[in-house]
Amino acid sequence: MNKIVVAIDGYSSCGKSTIAKQLAKHAGYTYVDTGAMYRAVALYVSQHLTIDEFQTLTDAEKTSFLEKNIRISFLQTADGQHVCLNGEDVEKQIRTLETGNLASQVSTIGVVRRFLVAQQQQMGTEKGIVMDGRDIGTVVFPQAELKIFLTATAQVRAERRYLELKQKGINAVYEDVLHDVLDRDYRDTHRAESPLRQAEDAIVLDNTHLTQDEQLRKVVEIFESKIK
Ligand code: C5P
Repeated sequence: MNKIVVAIDGYSSCGKSTIAKQLAKHAGYTYVDTGAMYRAVALYVSQHLTIDEFQTLTDAEKTSFLEKNIRISFLQTADGQHVCLNGEDVEKQIRTLETGNLASQVSTIGVVRRFLVAQQQQMGTEKGIVMDGRDIGTVVFPQAELKIFLTATAQVRAERRYLELKQKGINAVYEDVLHDVLDRDYRDTHRAESPLRQAEDAIVLDNTHLTQDEQLRKVVEIFESKIK
């Protein structure tokens, strides 16, 4: 059967990675979490200089800094996919609110986007991939055979994110999480480089009132009809 590329885009905390992982499992495809790649870059940059200092470098200096110092890979573990930075599993460090915020800032830098987009495109050359992010259907794989754009209200997304952080034992205040979600929405949709927008040929799925099972059923149906 022909393999396809599935692009899943949408706002932060609307469950993109959950549905992308479930669909990849159903299809026997590789799952790639591009947000984790931006988080890993943010982690490295913030460990070695401030984001402001990074911003003041010329584009050539930024490119050389990224290319010389940052290797991102994925590791399949018993509890799912972990991202590695220069061979070290940094899954836990990249999932904090702070790194998420830093990722949102570094992702506005064109050089960073080009550095990661090239790697993401490379991962999709064989197809059979489900990739989630903000620009997958518009920039990384504009030719993807299936594009899904996920949405949900900011309040519902903040609630879900808040519960997820609590479950992981990370202390958070709901109002802060909501504020953070709204901030990230703004940055994602207003940045000059590849702002988050729905591809014209994307299928929009609002999951505000859907359970995970209902959402999965819908997405599997769409996927199956696409590969027929
Ligand atoms: O999806 P996640 O919240 O892990 O992504 C972290 C940050 O990386 C987001 O706030 C978003 O700004 C950025 N991002 C991006 N493009 C992608 C994936 C993530 O700009 N393809």
